[in-house]
Amino acid sequence: MSRVSGRHFLQIPGPTPVPERVLRAMDKAVIDHRGPEFAKLGLHVLERVKTIFKTKTHVFIFPASGTGAWESSLANTLDPGDKVLMFETGHFAFLWKNMASRLGLEVDFIESDWRSGVDAGAIEAKLREDKDHAIKAVCVVHNETSTGTTSHMDQVRKAIDAANHPALFMVDTVSSLAAIDYRHDEWGVDVAVCGSQKGLMLPPGLGFTAVSDKAMAVSRDAKLRRAFFAWDEMETHNKAGFFPYTPATSLLYGLAEAIDMLHEEGLDNVFARHKRYGEAVRRAVAHWGLEIVSRDSKFHSPVVTTILMPEGNGGDAFRKLALDKFDVSLGAGLSKLADKIFRIGHIGDTNDLTILAALAGVEMSLGLAEIPHKKGGVQAAMDYFASAANGTMAAAAE
Ligand code: PLP
Repeated sequence: MSRVSGRHFLQIPGPTPVPERVLRAMDKAVIDHRGPEFAKLGLHVLERVKTIFKTKTHVFIFPASGTGAWESSLANTLDPGDKVLMFETGHFAFLWKNMASRLGLEVDFIESDWRSGVDAGAIEAKLREDKDHAIKAVCVVHNETSTGTTSHMDQVRKAIDAANHPALFMVDTVSSLAAIDYRHDEWGVDVAVCGSQKGLMLPPGLGFTAVSDKAMAVSRDAKLRRAFFAWDEMETHNKAGFFPYTPATSLLYGLAEAIDMLHEEGLDNVFARHKRYGEAVRRAVAHWGLEIVSRDSKFHSPVVTTILMPEGNGGDAFRKLALDKFDVSLGAGLSKLADKIFRIGHIGDTNDLTILAALAGVEMSLGLAEIPHKKGGVQAAMDYFASAANGTMAAAAE
């Protein structure tokens, strides 16, 4: 295979490009994970990561992916046969539901057409019906990476409160944390699940659970089996900065650096620029005359846009062409959406010009693939970025 010059455009919604600073921070000799230097690093990252989740309670870090963190959230808090309420926002909500079933939980799955976010009203109605409080947890995905919809976690919290229901509130923040505003304590979330490879700008390999005091207390008696993902042993070892087994030492150096970078930029600025990317990409897509999967603007995602292929055109062939011709990786359609869509990821360590280049790659590929579209989507995105930079359209990204 011949060398491809320049930087590869990794425009999938995670893993996201890892910044140089994070790569350099990890470029260190591997240290003794039971030694004093590691203890310092462990204590530092375990405390600092809380500032990203906006929590003062507990965050556990596993050498795992987001899927491991999903398992940890359920296995630590529930009993076999417990009922959980989930909402079908898309592929990832569906996978979490499958995992719950495999773990022996009974899932009440509110079905949806994968084109909108969580309907908090439907959650409230289910909880009001549940007079004897059989539902032990409400589990929802904050940003549905497969469809490009973002749900409103504050509204789900309000729905649980309005129904006066004691269920635990669990949120998948895998593709939202450190890119879309997330407030663990303020929103009364009991367990948040995350992975390292998206907003946190790290390679894949870390799974996180942020855990409220209520969930921690429930976990003391929860009867589902757990070993690797158990919180109790983690908690004991974490007190001194250590882990019950070999942690991903190098990734933790990267995590410390990534957290510093996020705070240097300011979390609010990070959230604002992701909104700006989302708006620019949607303007380009609208100009091309293509349709996005997210139907309602109140659910449009700031971090990923899922675009429907016009009838008779396959998403996978289109993605292959874009990769072959312009070295840009676009996200694939998953399960129900396989070959029907492509996704533009606009998350992590990126900027306006990177987004424009990715859009240029998409627009040129649309032309080469002879997919009907109106030229000028990149220009529409440029106009938006320029006016946003000029302050004339700041409100549009609010
Ligand atoms: N949840 C969401 C919203 C995701 O986007 C993903 C992966 O992309 C997962 C969960 C699963 O995480 P992982 O692939 O890290 O196991």
